[in-house]
Amino acid sequence: MEITPIPCLTDNYSYIIDDHVSKIVGVVDPSESSPIFAFLKKKNLKLNYILNTHHHFDHIGGNEELKKIYNAKVVGFKGDKHRIPGIDIALGNNEKWNFGNSQIKILHIPGHTSGHICFFFEKEKIAFTGDALFSLGCGKIFEGDHDQMLKSLNKLKELPKDTMIYCGHEYTYKNAKFCMKYDSDNINLKNKFEKIKRLRSKNLPTVPSSLDDELKSNIFLRCAQNDIKIKLDMKNEEELKVFRKVRDLKDNF
Ligand code: ZN
Ligand code: FE
Repeated sequence: MEITPIPCLTDNYSYIIDDHVSKIVGVVDPSESSPIFAFLKKKNLKLNYILNTHHHFDHIGGNEELKKIYNAKVVGFKGDKHRIPGIDIALGNNEKWNFGNSQIKILHIPGHTSGHICFFFEKEKIAFTGDALFSLGCGKIFEGDHDQMLKSLNKLKELPKDTMIYCGHEYTYKNAKFCMKYDSDNINLKNKFEKIKRLRSKNLPTVPSSLDDELKSNIFLRCAQNDIKIKLDMKNEEELKVFRKVRDLKDNF
């Protein structure tokens, strides 16, 4: 199975999933149709499925056009049927669905939007996290609350540590600068920051990132840890309070 990030709009990533064995091809979160169409044409591929993590325009903008061209089926969250354009296959939380020979598990991870999901390829250990979990960051809380978002992130933390995280935006450099501001003596973060700087100076994607890497260096996943609490002067505070503080600091960064 080959995953290719396709840069879209200013800083979005759509992903082409090309399963060489079953010959099934999907796209995750097509922000717009033209870069997806160009890639598929160049590779001489047809499109079977369009997978949407959530309903925001920069994740569904290419749905209708790609559906028209390829007669592809749109897959999304059951609870968001009314706002995922062209939805054909509506799946619920924890539901499993076959993509070629692979099995995808749907994880409902609200907070950024109320109907946000993650597509988790169980055998391959690949997770498409949209705008819920970014490399070194997390999504803004638009429709949910901090408690919901934290629970969603904690759900993702339970995935196998060698899961590869494919997120919806190239925000990693700015996220890294934020993490460094509050967690600068974290050796894992420092190393990751250097790697990110190298990649971005060549205009290369920083995705995917392993869950293990994120657990060690993403401050939003470290809010239950004492060293972060101490750095934020919140030694005995509960995780949710710490998370709220970090999210607020990032919103004003
Ligand atoms: Zn979004
Ligand atoms: Fe987005």
